[in-house]
Amino acid sequence: MPDASHTVPRHLDVAIVGGGLAGLYAIHRLRRLGLRVRAYEAGSGVGGTWFWNRYPGARCDVESLEYSYSFDAELQQDWKWPERYGTQPEILKYVNHVADRFDLRRDVQLDTRVKSALFDSKANEWVIKTDTGEEIRARYCVMAAGNLSTPRVPDFRGLQGFNGKWYHSGLWPHEGVDFSDLRVGVIGTGSSGVQMIPIIAEQAKHLTVFQRTANFSLPARNVPMPAEKERAHKAQYPARRAAAMETPFAIGGYPKPTRSALEVDKAERDAAYESKWQEGGSISYLYAYTDLLVNKASNDTASEFVRNKIRAIVKDPRTAELLAPKNHPIGTKRLCLDTNYYETYNRPNVALVDVRSDPIDRITETGLELESGTAFELDAIVFATGFDAMTGALNEIDVATSGGAVLRQHWEGGPLTYLGLMVAGFPNMFIVTGPGSPGVKTQMIASIEQHVDWIADAIDHLGRHQLDRIEPTPQAESEWVSHVNQVADSTLYPLANSWYMGANIPGKPRVFMPYVGGFDRYKRHCDAVAAQGYQGFTLSRHETVAA
Ligand code: FAD
Ligand code: NAP
Repeated sequence: MPDASHTVPRHLDVAIVGGGLAGLYAIHRLRRLGLRVRAYEAGSGVGGTWFWNRYPGARCDVESLEYSYSFDAELQQDWKWPERYGTQPEILKYVNHVADRFDLRRDVQLDTRVKSALFDSKANEWVIKTDTGEEIRARYCVMAAGNLSTPRVPDFRGLQGFNGKWYHSGLWPHEGVDFSDLRVGVIGTGSSGVQMIPIIAEQAKHLTVFQRTANFSLPARNVPMPAEKERAHKAQYPARRAAAMETPFAIGGYPKPTRSALEVDKAERDAAYESKWQEGGSISYLYAYTDLLVNKASNDTASEFVRNKIRAIVKDPRTAELLAPKNHPIGTKRLCLDTNYYETYNRPNVALVDVRSDPIDRITETGLELESGTAFELDAIVFATGFDAMTGALNEIDVATSGGAVLRQHWEGGPLTYLGLMVAGFPNMFIVTGPGSPGVKTQMIASIEQHVDWIADAIDHLGRHQLDRIEPTPQAESEWVSHVNQVADSTLYPLANSWYMGANIPGKPRVFMPYVGGFDRYKRHCDAVAAQGYQGFTLSRHETVAA
């Protein structure tokens, strides 16, 4: 580690926190404005999510022809996705290809965690300090630190004394893990758990799944990429990308629903759900009718269809009932996609344990124990227990201003942003897909590109008008937060205890964080804000620079 005290601060136009898909695109886009930029990445490689989440079965759940960058026409033509949904190694290979192809690595500093970011108002600069002891001074700071980048292991007593090995899905060993002949416990049945459970079950001597909340999962129906599908998609790529911009999830290719689920009879509805079930993919299913995410009675029909599928697949009726989600409407927690998830519970070496009725009390030297005293002997424990989502990465950084504002305090009651892009009182700090943005409810690379483009345009606008400071007004921030809440309250989303609500982290404020008004509506709004001279923002020229 370099000696902290004697290093000369590095001066940049833009400091970027994070070297995932967002950080990399930010380098590319901001460099084109002639700016000096550099990204600081805690990991030892680029790729973010796809660098860290190497658990068995990790892959995207949005088709790869969509879940990929759109900013370069040749890139999207050249890259060949071998399967309908890219695996983690394939996506990581793609990200590394992008880093090389656009010469991004020279502006990424790996193995460097940003510890603090202080806005020095007099100098009109962000002063960023890293765990390697460096100081960076930059006019603008772009937080591209990720929404699902702070892995969360629950505070179970006794973990340190466990004699076996334990893992978290988001911190998976690079060399992989061989579960052969082991008694394995997986805690958690969100998207990560649902992807890894079928594969671990094939390897392990015995697998026990500890489930607190049953999640809805649909078949992914992954296949090798059909050549004709790839050809047709690539022939229309620009039009398809443009069409995706006009949809709520930033994913094109699905006919827009026109009817409520309650406008048709049960036979017609079930036929529609069956066809979506066979097609695979979550957007298609949720897009079967106009009102599945806003009308409980409509949603009940879609939820019950999937519950009945689970009952039909899983042979043991007690296990099937435990797996059939009943405490939230389908789609209000992230809808999982799987390959043979429910089928896995028909294996003789797999058991499901309900830890809602009998929670995990502690980890023992040889396994774990529930509150009732029931004990399980385990050689390995896998925590598929998720992340401190949306605010975790930013709250781990000491973000403050010389005027005394502290981000953690500003967000004590839940995150406050304007457009999910900026925070009142924290000038020149941008967030990519932050709370209050639709990011996590969309094909995220589309949101990342839209956010970064908006940020780059704003910085360019400032430069062209001899301005150098931008921040949202407190009023614009509070109106946006109210709007985000109002929109959420008009949907079924708040009915679920999800990470969208911070419900997975004990003590975290229960606030619905993403904007669920749709990517299309959000993008139009952001464009209008910019076109109207950045309405809701104060743009200024810093006095000492002007003097
Ligand atoms: P990240 O990829 O999270 O990158 C952020 C980076 O910032 C990380 O590498 C982290 O190490 C770094 N960082 C954080 N704090 C600091 C700090 N203080 N100092 C330095 N570096 C820091 N989205 C979809 O749309 N479709 C999918 O199918 C999909 N699948 C997913 C599967 C998994 C397993 C997970 C966890 C997420 C998935 N997502 C998916 C969401 C995914 O996070 C985004 O699609 C996208 O990869 C986010 O990119 P990002 O660059 O914004 O953030
Ligand atoms: P998650 O959805 O938050 O799931 C965590 C699981 O752990 C939940 O089942 C949760 O139960 C359980 N859990 C947490 N604490 C527990 C405790 N103390 N005791 C028992 N169970 C506990 O996390 P994730 O599966 O890692 O997924 C996070 C997000 O990443 C997804 O929603 C998605 O956006 C993204 N992702 C996508 C894919 C993909 O398919 N492409 C794959 C993985 C992740 P509760 O529900 O009761 O809290």
